Amino acid sequence: MTTSTTVASQAEDTDAPALDLRGIDRRFDTARGVFTALRGVDITAQRGEFVSVVGPSGCGKSTLLALIAGLAKPQSGSVSVLGQQVSGVRKDVGLIFQKDALLPWRTALQNVMLPLRFRGVPRKEAEERATAWLERVGLGAFASSYPHQLSGGMRKRVAIAATLVYEPAVLLLDEPFSALDVQSRNLMENDLLDLWSVNRPTVLFITHDLEEAVGLSDRVLVMSAGPGKVIGDYAIPLERPRDLLEIRFDPAFVDLHHEIWEQLRGEVQRSRAAMPAPA
Ligand code: ADP
Ligand code: MG
Repeated sequence: MTTSTTVASQAEDTDAPALDLRGIDRRFDTARGVFTALRGVDITAQRGEFVSVVGPSGCGKSTLLALIAGLAKPQSGSVSVLGQQVSGVRKDVGLIFQKDALLPWRTALQNVMLPLRFRGVPRKEAEERATAWLERVGLGAFASSYPHQLSGGMRKRVAIAATLVYEPAVLLLDEPFSALDVQSRNLMENDLLDLWSVNRPTVLFITHDLEEAVGLSDRVLVMSAGPGKVIGDYAIPLERPRDLLEIRFDPAFVDLHHEIWEQLRGEVQRSRAAMPAPA
């Protein structure tokens, strides 16, 4: 993966969609030749929309996120964020991965302050804003704890606070909760929706879990087995606020889940069939 550390200018076209990907191809040079991970991907997300992307393992979901985050470039096609062509990492895009990126030698509070300090926020203001976000994620009492003193779910909360604290206009999440047990996961999903409703950033949420995608989103995109492309786009008109602990019993949820699964199942089977047999 090519990494760019350029920080793009922040002037933006306020009428443009928050995310606009057109005709994306992404290939990798490998020892066995050129490998096509994404072919002809088109995605648009409006401001404030919560969009999930589901697809079988290896279909190119993380590759897609890296292109939007400005961590890599496509071989063809264009990627725009807030009306601007992506040419590097932007300060107004937040990223949350499965593995949290907390610094082990800094306390929870210091971890949440760090992105603000990077953005030139004075120490006192950074501390106030970070403290407020730690309280918002329910960790006010753990400000001076180090990551190793916190549970997996608590570390995830610190990572979310450390991203939302700088109020990104676009939030990209790559299977953020997949390492958590089911109950902690549903609670985190509820908290994410509460936190999202504060500033309503545009969200692109990557997951292989269809239940999670339907529960959280305004729209669910289905990707094909590799080379990945978007083959389904489903509106999720379920009322908000939603409770992820209960929503799976709602008949409207069950119908949507069933309809999307009809399409996703085929891709999961195709992707499994394409897996090389063990040596
Ligand atoms: P997903 O996140 O959907 O599970 P990825 O985006 O991680 O899938 O990967 C898509 C495909 O691209 C996989 O087959 C993976 O092996 C391949 N791939 C990803 N990154 C690279 C790379 N740097 N070099 C070669 N192949 C890669
Ligand atoms: Mg992935």
